[in-house]
Amino acid sequence: MVDKACKKCRLIISEGHVCPGCNSTELTDKWSSYVVVFDPEKSEIAKKIGAKAPGKYAVRIKG
Ligand SMILES: [Zn+2]
Repeated sequence: MVDKACKKCRLIISEGHVCPGCNSTELTDKWSSYVVVFDPEKSEIAKKIGAKAPGKYAVRIKG
């Protein structure tokens, strides 16, 4: 199974159909490359993509 990314917050979800970050059901498997955010407060990339919690985030979402 391919991991899916949330279209709203970009969080990558490996199981289930609801995003645990924002409760959105708008998930897509059309994403490429990801970043792992450990500390959203200190991470520049986290600010850039709007990540507010630690986790794995898709950098590009096509769908
Ligand atoms: Zn989400």
